[in-house]
Amino acid sequence: MRAIVVGAGIVGAACARSLARAGVDVLVLERGAAVGGTSAACEGNLLVSDKTPGPELDLSLLAADRWATVAAELHEELGAAFPSVEYERKGGLVVSTTADGADALRAFAATQRAAGVDAQDVDTAGALALEPYLTRDVTAGVLYPQDAQVQPVTAAEALLASARHAGATVLTETEVVGAVRSPDGRLIGVSTPAGDHGGDVVVNAAGPWAGDVARRLGVHLPVLPRRGMVLVTTRMPHRVLHKVYDADYVGATQSADADLQTSTVVESTAAGTVLIGSSRQRVGFDDRLDVEVVREIAAKSLRIFPFLTSASVLRTYGGFRPYMPDHLPLVGADPRLPGLLHVTGHEGAGIGLSVPSADLLHALVTGSAAPLDPAAFAVDRPTLAPYLEEAS
Ligand SMILES: Cc1cc2nc3c(=O)[nH]c(=O)nc-3n(C[C@H](O)[C@H](O)[C@H](O)COP(=O)(O)OP(=O)(O)OC[C@H]3O[C@@H](n4cnc5c(N)ncnc54)[C@H](O)[C@@H]3O)c2cc1C
Repeated sequence: MRAIVVGAGIVGAACARSLARAGVDVLVLERGAAVGGTSAACEGNLLVSDKTPGPELDLSLLAADRWATVAAELHEELGAAFPSVEYERKGGLVVSTTADGADALRAFAATQRAAGVDAQDVDTAGALALEPYLTRDVTAGVLYPQDAQVQPVTAAEALLASARHAGATVLTETEVVGAVRSPDGRLIGVSTPAGDHGGDVVVNAAGPWAGDVARRLGVHLPVLPRRGMVLVTTRMPHRVLHKVYDADYVGATQSADADLQTSTVVESTAAGTVLIGSSRQRVGFDDRLDVEVVREIAAKSLRIFPFLTSASVLRTYGGFRPYMPDHLPLVGADPRLPGLLHVTGHEGAGIGLSVPSADLLHALVTGSAAPLDPAAFAVDRPTLAPYLEEAS
C-alpha cells in the first residue's frame, strides 16, 4: 500500500511514522520546509487538564500514555546526537483567584475525575507550596500530574526522522495543487507543479491549511485558522515549576467566539526561558504583530505571577491553530471522496494529540484494532454535519 501524507507538521510526521512502521510505503509532500507551519509557532503542552469530558479528553488520556512511550522510543532510535524532544511530565496546576472561580474550578475538576483524570484539589497553601512564586490571591488550585510537555519542533522533527528510518520519503518544497482521480472518481493521487504522485490513500494533514488542501482535492472542509500569540522571556532561574494556567483558560479553548480572547498560561522551558500565552482570535491568516494582544497577555500573566513584572521579553511569536467549528479533531476517511482521509482540526492541542491521532489513522488504514472508538472523530459525525451542509 502507498500512502501520500500532505503536510510535514507534527501531525503529518506522526502519521508518516505510524504508517511507515506498519510497512506502508509513505510519501510525505510538504509545500515549504519540514516543520515550518504551526508546529513551529506554538507551545508544547500535552494536556489533559484543559479538556472537558468527552472524546477529546479520551484522546488526550491516550496521548498522555503514548507520549511517554514514544519519547523513549525516539530517544532510543535516534540516539543522543539527535536533539532531545524534552519530554517532561511536570504536571499542570490550574488556579483561580476569585471565590466564584474556585467553585467553578473544583466543579470542573470533579467532572474530569469521573472521566478518569487524575485531578487533585489543592487549597491556597497547597498551591503556593507547589508554586512558591504564585500570587497570594490564589483561592484554589487543581494539580494534574498527567500533564506534560515537549519541545514541539524537535518532537516533530524526531517523528519525521523516525518515519524516514522506517522507509518514508519526505519531499519538501512540493505543494499539492490538485487531485488525480480514477475514471470512477476515486482519489488515486495528487498533482504538484513538478508532476503527479500516485497513492492508494491520501492523508490530508495540512493543519490550518487543511481546508485549502481539501478544496484542491475536491471537497469542502470547515477548518479555519485561529490565531494565537505567545511571549518569551529571557532565560532566568526556574521559578515556574509546573505548567500553570488561569482557570478561565478552559472557557477560552472551548469558545466559538471569533473575537480576541486571552487567558494566562505560563510555563518554563528546559532552556530557562518562560513562555507566556496565549490569545485566541479568528482573523484569517493575518500574521501581523498586534501590540494590544501582547499587552493583554502580559498584563494578565502578572496577576498570576507578579515576579514577571521584572522579566524581560526576548521575543513574541504567533501561529494559526487549525480550528474546527465543533471543537473536535478530524481523523477518518472522507465518505465524499474515496481514497481521501483527514487528520486535522486539532486546534490548540495538535502537538499532544498528534501521536494518538496517528494511532487511530494507522488502525483505519491497516484495519487493525483502533485504540478508541473513531466515530466521534469521523467526517460524518452529527456535530460537523451543519458546517458541511453550509458549504454545499
Ligand atoms: C500560540 C499557539 C500555542 C499552541 N500551543 C499548543 C500546545 O501547548 N500544545 C498543543 O498540543 N498544541 C498547541 N498548539 C496547537 C498546535 O500547534 C497545532 O494543533 C499543531 O501544530 C498542528 O499541527 P499540524 O501538523 O496539523 O499543522 P502544521 O504544523 O501547520 O503543518 C501543516 C503543514 O502542511 C503544509 N501544507 C499546507 N498546504 C500544503 C499543500 N498544499 N501542499 C503541501 N503541504 C502543505 C504546511 O506548509 C505545514 O507545514 C498551539 C498553537 C498556537 C498557535
